[in-house]
Amino acid sequence: MPATIVRVLPISGFEKLLDYRVPATIDGTLKLGCLVRVPIRNRQELGVVMEFSSAAQFPPGKLKQITQQIMEYPVLTLDSAELMYWMHDYYGAGFEALLETFIPAAVRKGMGQKLEKQVMLAGKFSKDDFETLNKRARKQALTYQFLRDQVKPLKKSLVEKRLKISSSVLNGLIEKGLVKEVSEVVERLAYDDDFSEVEEIDDQSFQLTMEQERCVQSVRKSLGTNRFHVHLLHGVTGSGKTEVYLQAIESVIRDGKDVIFLVPEVALTPQTVGRLRARFNRFDFKTVVWHSHLSSGERLDAWTSLASGEARVVVGARSALFAPLDNVGLIIVDEEHEPAYKQEETPRYHARDVAVFRAKLCNAVCVLGSATPSLESLYNVSTKKYLSDRLFKRVDNRMMPTVHVVDMRQEFISQKGAVTLSRILVNHLRDRLKRREQSILFINRRGYSRSMICPECGWVAMCRHCSIPMTFHRKFNKLVCHLCGHEHEAYNRCPECRSAKVKWKGTGTQKVEDVVKQALPQATVVRIDADTMQKKNLFRKILGDFRMGKIDILVGTQMIAKGLDFPNVTLVGLIDADLSMHVPDFRAHERTFQLLVQVAGRAGRGDLSGEVIVQSFTPHVGPIQYARREDFHGFLEDELQTRKEHEYPPYRNLIHHLFRGMNPQKVEFFAEQWVKHLEKSDLNWLEIRGPVPAPIEKIKDYYRYQIWYFTKNVSKTMPVLLQLREDFPMPEDVIDVFDVNPVNLV
Ligand code: ADP
Ligand code: ZN
Ligand code: ZN
Repeated sequence: MPATIVRVLPISGFEKLLDYRVPATIDGTLKLGCLVRVPIRNRQELGVVMEFSSAAQFPPGKLKQITQQIMEYPVLTLDSAELMYWMHDYYGAGFEALLETFIPAAVRKGMGQKLEKQVMLAGKFSKDDFETLNKRARKQALTYQFLRDQVKPLKKSLVEKRLKISSSVLNGLIEKGLVKEVSEVVERLAYDDDFSEVEEIDDQSFQLTMEQERCVQSVRKSLGTNRFHVHLLHGVTGSGKTEVYLQAIESVIRDGKDVIFLVPEVALTPQTVGRLRARFNRFDFKTVVWHSHLSSGERLDAWTSLASGEARVVVGARSALFAPLDNVGLIIVDEEHEPAYKQEETPRYHARDVAVFRAKLCNAVCVLGSATPSLESLYNVSTKKYLSDRLFKRVDNRMMPTVHVVDMRQEFISQKGAVTLSRILVNHLRDRLKRREQSILFINRRGYSRSMICPECGWVAMCRHCSIPMTFHRKFNKLVCHLCGHEHEAYNRCPECRSAKVKWKGTGTQKVEDVVKQALPQATVVRIDADTMQKKNLFRKILGDFRMGKIDILVGTQMIAKGLDFPNVTLVGLIDADLSMHVPDFRAHERTFQLLVQVAGRAGRGDLSGEVIVQSFTPHVGPIQYARREDFHGFLEDELQTRKEHEYPPYRNLIHHLFRGMNPQKVEFFAEQWVKHLEKSDLNWLEIRGPVPAPIEKIKDYYRYQIWYFTKNVSKTMPVLLQLREDFPMPEDVIDVFDVNPVNLV
């Protein structure tokens, strides 16, 4: 029988498939997507079996053979392999980066769970036969005796070492059928299922509200068709979306299929994960939580339980999307509008869009949920591409909060200067203290103040490696660059004009904390910001304290606006609503609108109704006014009109092409040459803008130029661009990257 030939994609360094012969020992059991070790040149490398091949270009005799199969389970399921090819074409991502994304490092390195050759007795034979063997092949007989006394199979190499025999001895016994060889999965040390990220919550079941019931039915209807559907579950905060997810998951599990549940950031959604675990405790499958704090051993175990089918549900951030589940029936993307779903390094992909595509490949249902859906998703509903399920009411018909917009220009006049807190906000905070209720204050930035400026000459403290202002950290009396980490002592005098009036401008969590403590000395005020988030236990402790009522006022950036559910919070303040609007990004209005609606949703989640105070210098603008009334329809119409005028997404796709290098003239030159190269290629269907300096011209001493492409069809554009790029020689010290539909334009 001719040997089976397979095509293997090496994990690193090769961007193409190579052919190998399958050794007889694994022929028949080797599956597509399996991880194998193969000889490449003089080295042994890992690769993934991507195809069975019938007509290899080489005569089979000349082909090298697979050395070893690393894992019993495929590391890529059939659909995820297809997904990987799609991401390769659509995002222009290299296979090496993709494989690193799809296959966790622990698995890739083939550590832990490897297959090990073990030997055990296969048959018994009579005393006479044994004597014969003893005379003819004494070593074989001794080995036989040794194995007979063992209670379990032993590692082949261990036996040989122990008995000081060559491999021919055991092979002789195997040929005679006296000993058999088995491949065993090596046990790893058992690990404690780490619940530290997860809040322990008792399972509650409720009578679904009418709205929830309708949404569950709608999703079930799609599930019943076994066809691809996308649902946008648009429900106000506190409307019980999670319950709808849980019901849908249960249907899918009962159907024997698997579930992927994406959240923007696991550390921020301990309650969701806790509820999921509590609900599915009684089922006989595991729910795997996939998060960044897993050790590589835990990651490997989590991965293995998914690959083996022991776990059927995975909850996690972006990368959970690539879980080795081979029968995905449902993919949930919670808080689908979150920019955190966009991966900002290679491979640059948007997890929401990839989720939709994986669901399509699996004939599965994708549920996108949010209180503030992205404009793209709302648009897809309006063009009937997505089905829409709405939850208008909060569970138990709790009241929507009352929203006050405070005009900070008035406040500036009446308080004779810039203030952080308006009087109405202070009064409301005081009022909450008296009633022993809690408040949350949100701001847009981190650090004490954003920048240091000189009011006399207009000097701003900039990072010398990046073209952005440095941020002042009062605690260390230092300026820190948030892009490159560069530090500088704070200035007492302006380095330009020697004025002593240099001062800090802007608002930060620390400053808000201080101002609140001054205004309300009796209140317990605690702050959460990006620095707090670095310490996972601290973050959990603060949330726990807040829940237990030990904290009166929580101050934080919008990152704490997500998914938190605190029943005793009746007041939410947004300190600087405008800030996200003054960003040179066509999504600025959308972000501001979403932030306001999200923030408002945090008030009055218990039996108490809530109030929201929004401070703004531009209280009249669209995003603030539409958000105040939760008028999605109005906002969508207004915003779509603007987008249409400029043909911004969702009307066209944007591809960002960044050139960077230490020498600005060189970077600019090659960016310009590249555009000329494109112009020769008759791409009149593609709008090209640039090159221009990027909004942040320099990061970590690298100068940056950018080009924008506007296209209706990414799948058509990217391969063309990549092909042309291959024929465009560039020096090594100019680097370029493509980013398809970036979410962060600055
Ligand atoms: P959302 O994700 O839409 O903001 P959640 O799913 O977190 O809302 O639900 C908000 C709260 O309401 C949770 O504490 C949840 O346990 C509770 N809840 C959900 N559905 C119901 C229901 N049908 N009856 C009573 N309480 C419910
Ligand atoms: Zn000055
Ligand atoms: Zn810097």
